[in-house]
Amino acid sequence: MKHEMPVLPYTKDASIPCMSPRTLEFHYGKHLQTYVNNLNELIRGTEFEHLPLDEIVRRAKGSLFNNAAQAWNHTLWFLSLSPAPKSRPTGRLAKAIDSDFGSFEAMKDAFTKAAVGLFGAGWVWLSADKNGKLTVTAESNAGNPMTSGLNPLATCDVWEHAYYLDVQNRRADFVAAFWQSIDWKKAEERYE
Ligand code: MN
Repeated sequence: MKHEMPVLPYTKDASIPCMSPRTLEFHYGKHLQTYVNNLNELIRGTEFEHLPLDEIVRRAKGSLFNNAAQAWNHTLWFLSLSPAPKSRPTGRLAKAIDSDFGSFEAMKDAFTKAAVGLFGAGWVWLSADKNGKLTVTAESNAGNPMTSGLNPLATCDVWEHAYYLDVQNRRADFVAAFWQSIDWKKAEERYE
């Protein structure tokens, strides 16, 4: 099975607060493309060759895990951004956020602290466990909460390549712009 690049739900010059067209060009066109190419190379002729990507992420180790997880993580990342996002969740996901964090703002604060505070490269996640209980976690490098049995709903890429061209070292500015870019419709669909 050959893994493909995700089809972006916006144009290459879309106005997305946390991602300039130049960052999109490098982040999607170079970084993600390399992970997908490496993934396809690494699975050839192995037990992983015909597995879906999420199974590879759950089972693989080492270099294959790194490239498979980066392909999975970036697919959620790019598909969750929008030039016209739904700015906050409604319905069942909104109720779950209120019940597990106290409020949307409290979840946002916990997520922002995790994203700004994560040392080095990694990802911050909002995930649901098997009972639907929500949690915010930070993962270094290619880390993905599916390896802990969680179902990821939303993520922020805090590798420097996600923001350095746009805001250089100012990760907090990037995370603030992320809140204006994430489409909660996507997270709601994953929660349902
Ligand atoms: Mn990235």
